Amino acid sequence: MTPYSHHFTDGTAFPFPLGKIVCVGRNYAEHARELNNPVPTTPLLFIKPASAAVPLEAPIALPDDRGEVHFETELAVLIGRTLRHAMPDQVADAIAGYGLALDLTLRELQSRLKEKGHPWEIAKSFDGACPLSAFVPANQMPLLGGNLDFSLEIDGTLRQEGHSREMLNQIAPLIAHMSGHFTLNPGDVILTGTPKGVGPLQSGQKLRLRLADALQIETEVL
Ligand code: ZN
Repeated sequence: MTPYSHHFTDGTAFPFPLGKIVCVGRNYAEHARELNNPVPTTPLLFIKPASAAVPLEAPIALPDDRGEVHFETELAVLIGRTLRHAMPDQVADAIAGYGLALDLTLRELQSRLKEKGHPWEIAKSFDGACPLSAFVPANQMPLLGGNLDFSLEIDGTLRQEGHSREMLNQIAPLIAHMSGHFTLNPGDVILTGTPKGVGPLQSGQKLRLRLADALQIETEVL
């Protein structure tokens, strides 16, 4: 696995290591429906460990013999200041940057765990389960609350397209809510959920991910 460390798109390093990756499930209604899940009334949170992170630019190594690995393309937010029981209007000042992530998921394993009512951890937290991009400094992106759009193409075909305005929980209230459950520290990353279009990755596929006009990344599946 290629080691991961935070950096910005202008090449500067971020002075804190990756802590935890706090994620939300079913934050886009159409994605909840495509997996036949109810749309939650409060944010459905889970955490990926720092050991799951790899650079998004590095070729993606799929785990062997563990069933389908689904891609979930997500807008990622880098936390720059401590947030604890924050109010939504305190969140903007704590965001250091915006990037892209793949929330890779062992879907068959996750389905079996869900059926039993067990935690999904092992389906989403394996080594390499969170390819992360460089971050666009927050002062170079549209203000929080504006619309950030992102997309994933596989082998030249558009597979996922997200608009932050379609999130059920918008970025500031979502991060404020998370900070009521877990202290968010500088270096933590928030994944904001995936739009519809998820599916299995296959060896040899070429991926192109884009965040607004600010970031474009090409990678491939080994
Ligand atoms: Zn996800």
